[in-house]
Order: sequence, then C-alpha cells, then structure tokens
Amino acid sequence: MSVGARQAFLRWYAVDKRRLPVRADEGDAPDPYRVWLSEIMLQQTTVATVMPYFARFTERWPTVAALAAAPDEEVMREWAGLGYYARARNLLACARAIVADHGGRFPDEPTALLALPGIGPYTAAAVAAIAFGRRAVVVDGNVERVIARLHAIVTPLPAARAEIRARADALTPNERAGDFAQAMMDLGATVCTPRSPSCPRCPLSSWCAAFAEGAPERYPVRPPKKARPRREGEAYWLEHDGHVLLVRRPPTGLLGGMRALPTEPPAEANWRAAGAVEHVFTHFALTTTLRCARARSRSAARSTGEWWPIARIDEAGLPTLFAKLAARGLAWRAAGGDAASPAGPLPNARPGP
Ligand code: SF4
Repeated sequence: MSVGARQAFLRWYAVDKRRLPVRADEGDAPDPYRVWLSEIMLQQTTVATVMPYFARFTERWPTVAALAAAPDEEVMREWAGLGYYARARNLLACARAIVADHGGRFPDEPTALLALPGIGPYTAAAVAAIAFGRRAVVVDGNVERVIARLHAIVTPLPAARAEIRARADALTPNERAGDFAQAMMDLGATVCTPRSPSCPRCPLSSWCAAFAEGAPERYPVRPPKKARPRREGEAYWLEHDGHVLLVRRPPTGLLGGMRALPTEPPAEANWRAAGAVEHVFTHFALTTTLRCARARSRSAARSTGEWWPIARIDEAGLPTLFAKLAARGLAWRAAGGDAASPAGPLPNARPGP
C-alpha cells in the first residue's frame, strides 16, 4: 500500500470510524485501563454484547487500582454472561499485578504487557498501539479477513496466519499505528464483513486483489470443518422453603470458580428429570439433563454449598449454562414440581443470603 493509500485509509477512518463508548472521546488521550478492559472483554464476544458490561465495570471500578481492590466474587458476578471465565480470573490477576509490580500504571511496551496474566500477543499489541501509539502489529479476526482479501491469500487458515501477519506488519505505518490498527478493525467490522463486503464503498478497493478477482467472500480460505464433539452431563436442582442449593465450582477447569447448580446428586431424594439444556462451548457441545427434587430440610444436602433464595436467582451470577438450567428448574416449580422428597441428614451446607 502506498503512502498516499495509507493516508486515504486513515482519512476514511477519521470520518467513518465507529463511535464506541469503549473508545476515548475525540481529542482525549486513550486510557490504557479502558483499552485493556475492552480488548479483554471483546475476545470471542461481540461489541453489542460487551457494551453494557463495559459500562458497568467502568462505573463500578473506574481505574485499574479500583478493579484490583475488588473482591473476586463481585467481579465474577459482574462478568457472568460474558463467558470464558478464565478471562475474568486473569483480568483480576492482571489488575493486581499492575498495581503490585508497576505502580498502578500499564507498561507501554508489548513485551512488558505480554508478561502480564491474560495478555497474549494480540492484546499486548492492541494496548501498546491503541493506548500508547507504539508501532505494534495488531491482527484480530477482522484484520485477518481484510488482509487475506487484500492479498487474495489462498493458503487456508490457520496455516495462512504467518503470511497474514507478515503482510500486516508490512502495511503498519511507523506513525499513528494505533489509528491504523483501529481503522483495519473497523473496516473488517463495518465494510469488509464476512458474508457481503461492501466493496464499492471500501477505501482500499483499488488495492484489493480479492475485489479484482470478483469473489472476495472466498477469503480467508477456511479448512474443511470438523464436527464438534458432543458431551453429556447432569445438574441438580434441590430446593427447600423457597431456596435452591448452589455450589461453587472448583477454581480451575470449565466455568472454574463460578457459582452453579451441583453436577453430582447433592442429596438422597426422589429426583425427577426436568428436561435437558443444550450449550455450545468452544471445543464441544454439551447436553445437560436437569434433575429436580424438594428436600424436607436444609440439612438433607450432603454437599457443601449455599441455599440461595429462588426469587433472587438472577442475582446469583450463574454462568449462561447454569442460568439456562435454573430457568428449567423454575419451569419445573411453575408446573407444580414434585412432592417433598425424602433426603438423608448430612448438615454441611451453609445458609445463603
Ligand atoms: Fe474487503 Fe472489498 Fe475492501 Fe477488498 S475491496 S478490502 S474485499 S471490502
């Protein structure tokens, strides 16, 4: 891309860029905390989904120091629904490392950023370029698509990534690298879209090999799809006197550290199947059957957990899978549920709020 083309592209960005609440106002210097927070939230998640979460986080915790001081449980609860909960745990670990090791200021070099929890090469490059104007090569899914089309790269993903990265590096200017990165992301999000790119209004159409070929949707070339494995599981809705038994999941692994329904029977009871819920994770699809029962007393539960008021179940911060299962539990109650189910007295559940 010539210098003139790059300038034309940056002019397009100045006029047509997305006005997103996660971005600094016109003329304001970007706040590294907001840039980092939005980049972490946007991983695997759409802008529309992220917006309300970003607004709530920045209102509750306006600085990295405020977030670092927040109780884990509060942050996990605010995160519920965004998925990929390891990101939330890394978010807190990163905020605390910045306060403990960097005096509460984000480092401005990609290598120093990379050493922080939860920051991979993409996020390090994005924060360095967008928050600090460093020359860093930022390649997300949108940029990947734009570059693959500009150069009509025929190698399928993921093998094409090295070439895409080298091409992106060659295009990135020394000055205004942050604006250039955001311009590429915006072009991919609003013009060079996956299914029907708007080539006639694209500022790069004169330099685009895929446009010249006439079939830009062909790029990036995808490998043949593999079927996602399917797994099965169970979850248990045990209620007593308007409360349901919730447990805390182990700190590591799937949905680690989150509040959830038990996935092992928490009591001897007359369990009734109440349907199944489908949920798709990145690497597998899960069918979870819900079993419901009423306990005669709280001491019937043999698993450690907390009795949560059913009327406030939406405040429990359940991850999406368990929120869907809880909705099934509520439907089971609404349909009349079951008569009280006998359960043995193993009193180690603690009261909820
Ligand atoms: Fe994408 Fe079309 Fe622009 Fe090429 S001309 S970058 S395919 S929108």
